[in-house]
Amino acid sequence: MNNKPVVKLIAKPDNMLKTIYTACRTCYSAEYPADIYENAVDNDKMLKLIERVISSGHYSTVEHIQVTFAISNVSRACTHQLVRHRHMSFSQKSQRYVKEKGQFDYIIPPTIEKNPELKSKFENFMNEISKQYQEFVEAGIPAEDARFVLPNAAASSIVASLNLREMIHLANLRLCTRAQYEIRTMVKLMCDELTAQEPWLKPYLVPKCERLGFCDEDKSCGRMKTKAQLFHAS
Ligand SMILES: Cc1cc2nc3c(=O)[nH]c(=O)nc-3n(C[C@H](O)[C@H](O)[C@H](O)COP(=O)(O)OP(=O)(O)OC[C@H]3O[C@@H](n4cnc5c(N)ncnc54)[C@H](O)[C@@H]3O)c2cc1C
Repeated sequence: MNNKPVVKLIAKPDNMLKTIYTACRTCYSAEYPADIYENAVDNDKMLKLIERVISSGHYSTVEHIQVTFAISNVSRACTHQLVRHRHMSFSQKSQRYVKEKGQFDYIIPPTIEKNPELKSKFENFMNEISKQYQEFVEAGIPAEDARFVLPNAAASSIVASLNLREMIHLANLRLCTRAQYEIRTMVKLMCDELTAQEPWLKPYLVPKCERLGFCDEDKSCGRMKTKAQLFHAS
């Protein structure tokens, strides 16, 4: 089966830039916000103000924008990491209400996928788990209990909504090479879906080192200088 996450942006406001600009401008203007919104036509002017406001850490202005993604073909290991983000809303395929029929779908990590011998062992093991799961279900064990034998590799589907502040935070953390490969791949696809429609967001939806100008991780990938290298260099 194809191991790549399937990600689709299914909802976002059409007037994203104007909405954020109106929020930003309202902070510094005597004009009514409704008038600021109506008169906002100059994209460059809007982008300049937004960059200034975001760069100064005034992130509440981008919280007005909510986006929703439909995500599938990702492992439970991946979704478990995603749901740690507390400013997101989720609806996930239930292992209580949806019984697995036959072999359940699963994700094979590329490190195992590329090794034919290990891949075969992995697949046999998934097959064994599936047989055990089916035996439990056929014996009348409820799916919510039979699922205890399902692995982290089991594929899942999830609908995830978040505001733009959290989207930037998610990208900054999960596009970092220190993040696990699958969530990194999934978040990259989320960013690609959004920037395909809103290209002005590209400079924000990047690993945190690109915004910070240095790496703040304990174990750096070497792409950027660490904080220590930057500030304690003689
Ligand atoms: C590379 C990597 C490795 C990781 N390894 C581990 C691990 O080994 N074990 C583990 O358990 N987790 C691990 N995590 C998950 C990590 O600890 C966070 O739970 C996850 O990344 C969510 O990040 P967050 O809390 O910044 O973001 P969110 O939950 O999305 O929140 C966004 C921001 O809101 C603020 N915020 C949210 N809730 C609160 C609150 N209650 N109080 C104050 N401020 C709040 C914070 O500023 C936070 O950064 C890892 C994450 C990464 C990226």
